[in-house]
Order: sequence, then structure tokens, then C-alpha cells
Amino acid sequence: MSFKKNVDHYVEQSAKNLNFTSDLLEHIKATHSLIKVNVGVEIDGGIKNFTGWRAVHSEHILPSKGGLRYSNSVDQDDTEALAALMTYKCAIVDIPYGGSKGGLRINPNEYNENQLRNITKTFATKLIKKGFISPAINVPAPDVGTSEREMGWIKDVYKSLRPEDINYRACVTGKPRHGGGIAGRTEATGRGIEEVIREFFRNKEEVKKAKLNENLKDNRIVIQGFGNVGRHLAYELYNRDNAQIIAIGEYNGILYNENGIDINKLIECVLFKKTIENNDLGKFIRNPKEIVEVECDILVPAALEGVINKDNVEKVKTKLIVEAANGPIDPASDKILFNKGVTVLPDIYVNAGGVVVSYFEWVKNLSHIRFGRMEKRYQEHKLLELIKLIEKTTNTKTDPELIKTIVHGADEIDLTNSGLEDSMRNSFNEILSIKKQIKKSFRESAYYLSLKKLRKFYTKEGLPRH
Ligand code: NAD
Repeated sequence: MSFKKNVDHYVEQSAKNLNFTSDLLEHIKATHSLIKVNVGVEIDGGIKNFTGWRAVHSEHILPSKGGLRYSNSVDQDDTEALAALMTYKCAIVDIPYGGSKGGLRINPNEYNENQLRNITKTFATKLIKKGFISPAINVPAPDVGTSEREMGWIKDVYKSLRPEDINYRACVTGKPRHGGGIAGRTEATGRGIEEVIREFFRNKEEVKKAKLNENLKDNRIVIQGFGNVGRHLAYELYNRDNAQIIAIGEYNGILYNENGIDINKLIECVLFKKTIENNDLGKFIRNPKEIVEVECDILVPAALEGVINKDNVEKVKTKLIVEAANGPIDPASDKILFNKGVTVLPDIYVNAGGVVVSYFEWVKNLSHIRFGRMEKRYQEHKLLELIKLIEKTTNTKTDPELIKTIVHGADEIDLTNSGLEDSMRNSFNEILSIKKQIKKSFRESAYYLSLKKLRKFYTKEGLPRH
């Protein structure tokens, strides 16, 4: 089955319990618009052609939102599937966007920075001119193979083509901070996934059902992919939860240490050497595919789609799979894992932290002011007055270090992280309550929740009752 058909399969499965007419379901599943572009860019004295797509899966709320991927494996079907996932994901976490996704078929490692800038700017120009990028209609963000650098270039192109649009900075999210980005966006998807895992462990009944050790830190974790998502997730788990990450998989192999990898040192090594190989943090196994077969308690695929499939599903030895990547398990394997009692937390919810913080960035760009700028010092002064009053009435003195901690007004990063935590925790509990009601998997419950929220946009259910 193609990736898009896999997504449609999950939608159809959950819709059975929800009284959808077949016409409405067809409309919800369909890609609403799609563009394919060929971009000719001058490279080394010749013209090189690159093919790209942008799919808009839904427009029940505008803008439509979704990442832009640079990879040799980008194609139309994947782009449509990923756009559809964005629709369902945004609905689950109550982010007011339709779903979209785009990609360019390219191996970014084969080009230097100047060439990539030219390619990105040419691609963006086409998408902007055809109405597939704008703050009001369609807003890209980073995905596999792209980062804040590409988003900054796209914003510059949009600004030069639409100088009269005062909201030009909101045409992309995941931008550099000086260009209108928000504190905490780069790490948001990884940190959001950590919040999901933390919330799962607050639900002791689910932890017991999954046969995991009661405390997160006592479970062995394996992560596939040490890119944006995998690296930030590993960082948060290691530093905030004291978690034991026993294996990290990358395209060239696996770093394994049964006593847990020092993630801070690994991040430093990767920064300089650009690889998880050649360090003394564990043994290196030169077979990247084996990562999903490493025995562990929690497995986090955070790289590519389709990595757990008919060829290896029987060899997966874990209790909980947290789908950080989009579509890492095919539906047949998902069923096998469910029957074996492996708990799976699904992509359409798990990796939504990126779009949640993208939404905060977009709102910040439209309001033209940094979060916390107006109230931070006011809050601090009020809290200080309160402490002084308490000291005076109780005739006591408070430790100056404690005063500093208590009165500290919220910076942008504090607000971003607070909003991210709130979104991920609320949605987890909404999914869990549906799971208890329909007695199905987390995935089926997440799709059920999403479809229930989407149905309101298309039926009388969403109309006010008088
Ligand atoms: P990335 O390009 O930053 O990282 C991907 C990593 O996977 C890279 O380090 C790459 O070397 C590694 N990799 C490639 N092939 C591999 C293989 N065969 N085995 C193991 N590792 C391999 O991409 P990312 O932004 O971290 O995205 C990862 C996944 O998370 C994708 O499915 C993406 O759609 C999803 N996602 C990303 C975001 C985001 O904010 N970046 C948001 C939601 C979902």
C-alpha cells in the first residue's frame, strides 16, 4: 500500500464508529489541491532540473500548514500522505490550520550553500506566484533536509515579491530568531515528544498495561535518527528525565551502550564530526536497519517512514513505540504489534509539538510583538511587592536566590514551553478518554478524536443551537 493509502486506511477504520456519510469521508480524505513544479537552476555552468510538490489536503481553516522536505525520496504520494497527516494532527491538538506539505526531490548534501540558496529561492518563487505560500493561505516549516536556514531564504523571497504585505514574516515558521522566529521552535518537536512520554508515565494504569517499569528513567530507550527531532528528544530525555538511552541509530550504523549513552557528549561529537561514529561513547554497529530490532522498553523511530514493516516486525523487541517520525509503521505491522500487546503512540499526535510552536510563531508574527514583552517586568514588580509584604507582616527574610526564582517573569521560551506542554498533555488525555470509551488502540482513538473534531466543520453538528 502507498503511504497515502495507509493514512486513508486509518481514517476509514476510525470513521466506521462515527457515522460519516461516504461522500463526506471521500471529501475529507481527498487532497484538495496539488502543484507539481520543475525548477531549473544554473549549477556549474549548466541547468539542473529539480522536481517539487506542494499538496494542500484541507482548507476548512486557513492557512494550511505543513513542512517542506528536501530528500531524494520525495514524491507526490508521500507529499499527499504527509499533507493529510497534517490535517488530522492539527485537529487533534486544536491548532487552527488546514493540512499541507511540500517537498523537493534533491539530496541536499550534494550541493553547497550558495547552490541550495538558489534552488530554494527558485522553488519558493514558483510556489509563491502560484498561491502555495503566503501568511494567509499556506505556511511551510522545516522538515527532513530543511531547517531555519531554508525558511529564512523563503521569507526573504516572499518579502521581495510582496513588499506590501505587512505580515510577510508569517509566510513561514521555523525561521531564525532575528528574522521573526520564536524561541523554542527548533527543539519543539523533540520536546513535545518528551512531554508525550512524560504524560504517558503519569498514567500509571497505561504504564502497567504496557508492562513498562513504573518510572521513565528505569526504562531502556532506543532512538532511530539523530537529526532535529531525534537529537532534541534525546537531549530532553537525558537532561530532564535522567533517561537511559542505550542505542541511537543513524543512516550509517548504530551507537550502542547497554549502560546508557552520554547524550551531551554525543551531541558535541556530532557537532564536530558530523557522525555518531568514531567516539568512545559506545560500540558502533555498522548495520543501520537493525536499530528497530534492538531489545529495549521504548523504541522511538525518529527518521523515516516505513521502517517497521513485514520484513522486520516479528523481530521488534520492545513494549512501547513512540512514533516521532511520520508513518514509521505500515498498517499490517501495526496490527501485528497490537496483537502482540506492544503499545504504539501514533505520529498524528506524537510529533505535533512542531506545529504547535509554529502556530505560536505565526501568532507572534501577526501580532508583531514578542511574547512576554509587555507583562514580564510588571509581573516581576507585583511579585516582589507581595514578597516584601509577606516579609513585613511575618517579620521574616527570604533567601535572595529564592526571591530571584519566584519573581522571574515569563520569557518567550518559558511561554513557548508552557504552551507546548499544555497542548501535548491536554491532547493525550483527550485521546486516552476516547481510548477508554471505544476500547481500541491509541492510533484508532487519535484518528477518532481528529475526525470527530473535523466533522463539525462539514455538518450541522458545528452550527450553533438556538
Ligand atoms: P532530519 O533530516 O533533521 O533528521 C533525520 C535524521 O535521520 C538524520 O540525522 C538522518 O541522517 C537520519 N537518517 C536518515 N536515514 C536513516 C536511516 N536509514 N536510519 C537511521 N537514521 C537515518 O529530519 P527531522 O526533522 O528530524 O525529521 C524526522 C522525522 O520527524 C520525519 O519523519 C519528519 O517528517 C518528522 N517530523 C519532523 C518535524 C520537525 O519539526 N522537524 C515535525 C513533525 C514531524
